[in-house]
Amino acid sequence: MRRVPARLFGPGLAAGGEAVELELSDGALAVPGRPELAVALSQVSLTLAGFGLDEWQLAWQAGDARYAAHLADKASLQRLAARPPAGLLAQVAAVGRAGRQRQRRAMTLWGVLGLAVLLPFLLLGLFVWQSARIAGWLADRIPIEQERQLGELVFAREKPALKLIGRGPAAQAVSEIGARLTQGSAYRYRFYLAQSPEVNAYAVPGGTVVVYTGLLARADSAEELAGVLAHEVQHVERRHSLKALVHGLGLSALASLALGDASGGVAAGMAQQLAGLSFSREQESDADLHGLDALRRAGIAPQGMLRFYRKLASSQGGATPAMLSTHPTSDARFAALEAELGKKGGWPARPLPYDWGTIKASLKP
Ligand SMILES: [Zn+2]
Repeated sequence: MRRVPARLFGPGLAAGGEAVELELSDGALAVPGRPELAVALSQVSLTLAGFGLDEWQLAWQAGDARYAAHLADKASLQRLAARPPAGLLAQVAAVGRAGRQRQRRAMTLWGVLGLAVLLPFLLLGLFVWQSARIAGWLADRIPIEQERQLGELVFAREKPALKLIGRGPAAQAVSEIGARLTQGSAYRYRFYLAQSPEVNAYAVPGGTVVVYTGLLARADSAEELAGVLAHEVQHVERRHSLKALVHGLGLSALASLALGDASGGVAAGMAQQLAGLSFSREQESDADLHGLDALRRAGIAPQGMLRFYRKLASSQGGATPAMLSTHPTSDARFAALEAELGKKGGWPARPLPYDWGTIKASLKP
């Protein structure tokens, strides 16, 4: 005989049921003080009840009336499920099977739901993980005209902050040498000289190249400047700048979407990073080697390029030139450049027709 707390529902009882202690023997159910409700367990039907379907409902017929006992006490339910009265054995087994099936279905449902919820994050993770590759793939599919528009859009926000030098021997040398290095290109280039002590130069997708006066001050000949320009131009030609920009735009665009910020601050944010678009060592070597070709086509001596980058790399004391953080140098890069030079064996070149002393002097305030 087991006593189990329950709420009893039926005719003449409170609408919310009455608390009772059921007496369960192997073959029968009884309610103390209500002998007329006693019933054989073979006449009782067991169903699961409650919000989580983890409670029992025992229902039976007594005379003309139908009664139900609701069992919600966890401890006694556990004991009942572990050792059911013989008369309830088959029904307890049946609801157990149904419960396990339901649980499996629920697990599957939660699995599917969970995946649906997680999928955007998984994709975002994949994007971050493979972002350089995806950006490269995307960049390869952007037509030159769109690339030019994208570059202009971003550079337009950067331009007002630059102290551009539109005339004078230095600006003239930059744009003339630049034009010489980009003859026959599919891009229409514009070369800008900007007043800044930073030793830096950068290439905007679509054909804009910016050189800081700090870089000219560091160069010791027009050939060194030409070497840097030949290299920078390749970041456009080889679409390194576009890939870096798409990479940056892609991630920040995703980030702003994720943060619910569609205010268009993305392009503004990128503008400040134009000078900071950074390249891989592979891209640097690629720009070097194709830069050498550009110097050869333009009939400009190639040694200036190597000399300038070596000078930057070995600069001691003071701040690291900005250019080195975005254009990583390494002994391997220089070795590859020297090997390529040796292989090509030099070419006929006339000194560039600039008085470098005058150009440097013109930069002094
Ligand atoms: Zn570079």
